[in-house]
Amino acid sequence: MTFDDQVDVAVLGGGACGLVAALRAARDPGLVVAVYEKSTREGCNTRYSSGSLAAGGTRYQRAAGIDDSPGRHARDILAVNGDPASAPIVNALCRVAPRYVEWLADDLGHPVELGLDMARAGQSVPRLHTDTGRAGGARLMETLRRAAEAAPNIAFVDNAPGIGLISRNDAVVGAEVLENGVKRRVGAGAVVLAADGFANNPAMMAEHCPEAEGAFYGGVSTSTGDAIGWGLELGAAVRNMGSFLGHGLVVQGHGTRLNPVLPFLGAVLVDDQGHRFVDEKAQGYSKLGRIIADRRAVLIWDQPMHETAMHSELMRESETAGAFTTHPTPAHLAAAYSLPDLTLPADFTPPLRAGRVTSGILTTQGGLLVDPRGRVQHRTGGWIKGLYAGGGSACGISGPSSEGYMSGNGLLAALGFGWLIGDHLAARERGIMAG
Ligand SMILES: Cc1cc2nc3c(=O)[nH]c(=O)nc-3n(C[C@H](O)[C@H](O)[C@H](O)COP(=O)(O)OP(=O)(O)OC[C@H]3O[C@@H](n4cnc5c(N)ncnc54)[C@H](O)[C@@H]3O)c2cc1C
Repeated sequence: MTFDDQVDVAVLGGGACGLVAALRAARDPGLVVAVYEKSTREGCNTRYSSGSLAAGGTRYQRAAGIDDSPGRHARDILAVNGDPASAPIVNALCRVAPRYVEWLADDLGHPVELGLDMARAGQSVPRLHTDTGRAGGARLMETLRRAAEAAPNIAFVDNAPGIGLISRNDAVVGAEVLENGVKRRVGAGAVVLAADGFANNPAMMAEHCPEAEGAFYGGVSTSTGDAIGWGLELGAAVRNMGSFLGHGLVVQGHGTRLNPVLPFLGAVLVDDQGHRFVDEKAQGYSKLGRIIADRRAVLIWDQPMHETAMHSELMRESETAGAFTTHPTPAHLAAAYSLPDLTLPADFTPPLRAGRVTSGILTTQGGLLVDPRGRVQHRTGGWIKGLYAGGGSACGISGPSSEGYMSGNGLLAALGFGWLIGDHLAARERGIMAG
């Protein structure tokens, strides 16, 4: 078999999962790593995410007096995801999460802080970590790209989509990529699928996530399920394909989001009469998406809540877009939104803010079945030699539907699998483990 190029590790997809896998593998100077990215211009979901990293047991939590651990984090996820079979993966990802949060800060210079003002449904303690300026995923991607550029044994090849896998005797031995429109065959000791999920593939969405039909899509155009398709062709097993990250606080007509902390600060959701219809604090924002899908709903919050909620890139985007409004009294607000029977809690301090919200989908959460090292499993059992997957290309940890997503699960599966796969490949090279 002949190849145009030969590397040790070929990573398909240059988002969080792909770059963390590359960086961890490349700590072994004997490994040549190439990251093939479809298009940084179109972007990755990590770039547009809030960059909130869920991790239990970090030094940031200890400094704040918060008693957390990977085990507690894993128990919280498993309590809502409805998928006990995912426990080995959930445990493995939660175990490495505090390590990569501290690595980002200590080795890569990422400005990390614990989001004490970022309460989320199902999280028994504050454990979302973010960048100090709250710039979101853009800042995280800058950090990862800078580190990859500085690594002498990583090549980042932009505008070079993977178009297929190359296999021999049931093992993956390389990938086909398009460089400047020309097909190149890249031989590789291991191929890492890090191309996110399929939320922008209408046919796959219709087949696997029909309940999301018609919902606003808030992710990037590059998430077309390519990697999952190649895995399926090779006989890989898939899991949780009906799972997706929804969002119940997308502002109608604008496509920006409101801060999910608002319900935890006391914000209320009302229907077109002005009546509350849900326990706002009891819902994760993904599950909330399903609840409000068929309603006209308005989220209302007051001035102190607003001051806290504005510490996020998504509220700044909403403000710039004019996606919420300001009102001096409940009567003005009720008139502006035609809410005939609105009664707000007596302690709401004006001015009041409001936005009409709808449901959206951000990413899919199901994909190729992997083990805790990110090795892709075959439908008939065993794993496909040489093939790894993580992030949105893998089966995820959010159970079978949109209801099992806990805040932070998306980037946990991206950075966590990137870390597990990269470390595994570096160790494999040193002959510490087989496979
Ligand atoms: C608006 C928004 C907010 C979010 N907020 C959060 C949050 O705060 N916390 C959280 O945990 N999760 C969040 N998520 C989910 C999270 O962003 C994703 O789960 C995570 O970024 C997935 O990482 P990834 O590396 O798998 O994919 P990505 O970051 O999307 O990277 C995949 C890369 O693969 C490339 N690619 C695609 N196809 C190919 C191909 N054929 N060949 C080569 N490259 C290819 C893409 O161009 C892309 O660069 C959010 C998602 C969205 C959309």
